[in-house]
Amino acid sequence: MCKLLWNLCKKKDKLSMQWVHVYYKKYNLGWGTEPKKASWVIQKIFKAKKYFVEASYTEDDVLRMKTFSIKDVYLKNRGEFSKVSWRRIIWNNVGLPKWIFMGYLAAHRRLQTRDRLKRWGCVALCKPEAKTMNHLFFVCPFSKIIWASILRWLKIVKPVMDWEHELQWAEQHCRGRSAIAEIYRMMLVGSIYYIWQKGMLESFKKYRGLLKKLLEV
Ligand SMILES: [Zn+2]
Repeated sequence: MCKLLWNLCKKKDKLSMQWVHVYYKKYNLGWGTEPKKASWVIQKIFKAKKYFVEASYTEDDVLRMKTFSIKDVYLKNRGEFSKVSWRRIIWNNVGLPKWIFMGYLAAHRRLQTRDRLKRWGCVALCKPEAKTMNHLFFVCPFSKIIWASILRWLKIVKPVMDWEHELQWAEQHCRGRSAIAEIYRMMLVGSIYYIWQKGMLESFKKYRGLLKKLLEV
């Protein structure tokens, strides 16, 4: 898709690309176009822009590319990624994919917590600090209990901190391949998932079940 977008922007002399330009002339197709009425294929091509943007390519960069190399885009993407210190915590994770995805969003601070906090009574009970993701993970007394019991189970002695500091702590202490590090990373994204998805009470029940299961193994 990235390659097709590059082709379109460059107006490459390929018959298919010329066809697209003629057919969608009224849109004056280019970098910023989002042809809403175009066919899904064309829309998909233009959505590929986000991959370029993620790899910090500008329109000029794309136009300057003489040939298109997916490897370059990938490497540039990965280069940006290696600067992200939490990537080992999230990607080297044996947790369920849905947990990891939630952890990824949380690490990006992309979880919109305000509504959840309202629904679970945090805004009423824990005001005024109940506004941010840091409250939900794990400043809130309810989620704090959950995370504290996980830490106890893992025999890790450390205070329960907010998300910012929990993530930093995990980066420093649990990035390796030891069993405890693996389990810690898994439990971290798991608790994000359950607390976020199920609310405090249900996640506590879920966790009790999960811990029991793990202890039996
Ligand atoms: Zn709260």
